Amino acid sequence: MDLQSLPLPESFIRACIAKGITSLYPPQAECVNQGLLEGKNQLISIPTASGKTLLAEMAMWARIAGGGKCLYIVPLRALASEKYEEFSRKGVIRVGIATGDFDRTDAYLGENDIIVATSEKTDSLLRNKTPWLSHITCIILDEVHLIGSENRGATLEMVITKLRYTNPGMQIIGLSATIGNPAQLAEWLNAALITSTWRPVDLRQGVYYNGKIRFQNSERPIQAKTKHDDLNLCLDTIEEGGQCLVFVSSRRNAEGFAKKAAGALKTGSPDSRSLADQLRKLRDRDESNILADCVERGAAFHHAGLLRQERTIIEEGFRNGYIEVISATPTLAAGLNLPARRVIIRDYSRFSSGLGMVPIPVGEYHQMAGRAGRPHLDPYGEAVLLAKDAPTVERLFETFIDAEAERIDSQCVDDSSLCAHILSLIATGFAHDQGALASFMERTFYFYQHPKTRSLPRLVSDAVLFLIAAEMVQESQGRLSATQLGNLVSRLYLNPCTARLILDNLKSCEAPTLIGLLHVICVSPDMQRLYLKSADTQLLRTFLFKNKDDLILPLPFEQEEEELWLSGLKTALVLTDWADEVSEKQIEERYGIGAGDLYNIVDSGKWLLHATERLVSTQISELSSVISTLAIRVQHGVKPELLPLVALRNIGRVRARSLYNAGYQDPQSLVNAGIPTIARIIGEGIARQVIEDISGVKNSGKKKYNNDGESREKTQYLT
Ligand code: ADP
Repeated sequence: MDLQSLPLPESFIRACIAKGITSLYPPQAECVNQGLLEGKNQLISIPTASGKTLLAEMAMWARIAGGGKCLYIVPLRALASEKYEEFSRKGVIRVGIATGDFDRTDAYLGENDIIVATSEKTDSLLRNKTPWLSHITCIILDEVHLIGSENRGATLEMVITKLRYTNPGMQIIGLSATIGNPAQLAEWLNAALITSTWRPVDLRQGVYYNGKIRFQNSERPIQAKTKHDDLNLCLDTIEEGGQCLVFVSSRRNAEGFAKKAAGALKTGSPDSRSLADQLRKLRDRDESNILADCVERGAAFHHAGLLRQERTIIEEGFRNGYIEVISATPTLAAGLNLPARRVIIRDYSRFSSGLGMVPIPVGEYHQMAGRAGRPHLDPYGEAVLLAKDAPTVERLFETFIDAEAERIDSQCVDDSSLCAHILSLIATGFAHDQGALASFMERTFYFYQHPKTRSLPRLVSDAVLFLIAAEMVQESQGRLSATQLGNLVSRLYLNPCTARLILDNLKSCEAPTLIGLLHVICVSPDMQRLYLKSADTQLLRTFLFKNKDDLILPLPFEQEEEELWLSGLKTALVLTDWADEVSEKQIEERYGIGAGDLYNIVDSGKWLLHATERLVSTQISELSSVISTLAIRVQHGVKPELLPLVALRNIGRVRARSLYNAGYQDPQSLVNAGIPTIARIIGEGIARQVIEDISGVKNSGKKKYNNDGESREKTQYLT
């Protein structure tokens, strides 16, 4: 089907042609034939790289041409940025990205034609009654199979259910590569199901054992250049001009493999050396940089412990062909568009608590295998599993290659998330009594999967009882409404259990210590906690021996709760060190974590402290300023005396400390010293900008704040 024959805006067609897209792939043509451009709902379950994004864009441009507005919902922030950039490149239409704080309506975003957002952000926009949501005429659900994900699925399902309720006529497009029960999901969405196994590049799936890859109908010998099978498979592909992705189960394995591959590749290129320099500059320390050392030779590792900028450099470097092999944990398979000629799935079992090592889900295998073969660049793609012995070869074919992906099951009645969603339904006026709540819940995928369930009304009424006891919901003559606290908790996007935990524990505490306060926040269901490792035991024991009395929460008796309590303590200790200006390197070494982990918990801690401050200001106002100061300390990683300095744009923890130690302790002292003196400490450019900012504030009365726009708390330090 010729793209130019379609009723789509000329500018869109021109932009596609410029990218080399002139006609539709067969599954794309099928979607168009089934009414994609006329606003029909579709669940599109087709393989990776078969062009789902283009389908979403065609549907969106068709709606926008008719005066509509589209919401593109993704599971990860990194994917939101990738899609935002991709849609923006076509020009003409206005594209916005919603990734900011959870308690804002982001009214300005409504001016865009397409808004890209994560499901959590969309949920928070719904809870804050964002007006432009009612103008949405098309939603795209990227990676819609994540409705079955234990931790994220419930939010996605509730978001879809709410939007279908408020915007009944809108078009719904679900995109997914791997679903075991697509017909059921399509029926729930009232969507036509489009499935296909067509791929733009032929995919060969096989198992490596004893010097050969066995495919379904053929074999391929692999030369043994080293004693490592996984490495030989890589070198074989690189030698014939391809690239490799190697999936392994842990960060340590990813780093180990990249080092091994770098050792074998040896030389690298001027381009890979320049990438390595970029990586070294990101970490302004003299320490050895293993990632940069590997990249210099054309190998890299990729996992959640890396900084976001590091991951972006690696992804770009791989797309441009400067990096020949990436070893990665499975997070890389979740959505990012990073194909390679050969994908090696080296570790296909994973540790599961209580079960030991279990095979990874078939859906996950297909996600990884689907990355094989770069359209227009590779003649074919190969996905290869590694067998340890002959009997395993057959077993791997059965367990993964020939197996169907798992069914997806609704997660929306899981206890803690159900309470949060019921509160939001009451607070935002979706339902005012138990009957309305039950009939809303009957619109969910859960009810679609369990139409005969008798437990739904009970689950709903248990959640309501919990919310009444938690003083977040009140009932009068059968009518439910949110209390002031309930409204606040819903708007702050807090789990009601988190809010209760914080209020109950801080209320009874006259002068909480820093660690005590952070520990409460870090055990809450909303905190992203660090994993406990056996090496942490000593560190935590030593801390408890000396400082147990600083904690607010007592050590629980139940083993499962104890684990949570201890991992919360580890996370709180990291945040405390960060706020006490311990260097990043020391923190990483002390707790065995990566820079990306530190970034993630600082981000999560900052948001929860901000929410805590809002919570306590209504009930325990005397703690409000303590927490507001702590929130800024955690945000910037500084001791209290640096707060006036980090309020300035482009002054972070390192520059603020240098200025402070040189005797400049507040903005006025910088102005008094003058640009030449300050430039000697923080460089000419920054010194000029900072002093101009401060003078500008004084002259115009307008304030210039530090880089992320979170200015509210900082104003007090600029006087
Ligand atoms: P998916 O989301 O299904 O994994 P993408 O939408 O990322 O796949 O598409 C993979 C690649 O194929 C992209 O580079 C895209 O531009 C390209 N592509 C999509 N449709 C076509 C087409 N009809 N003709 C040529 N290239 C296409």
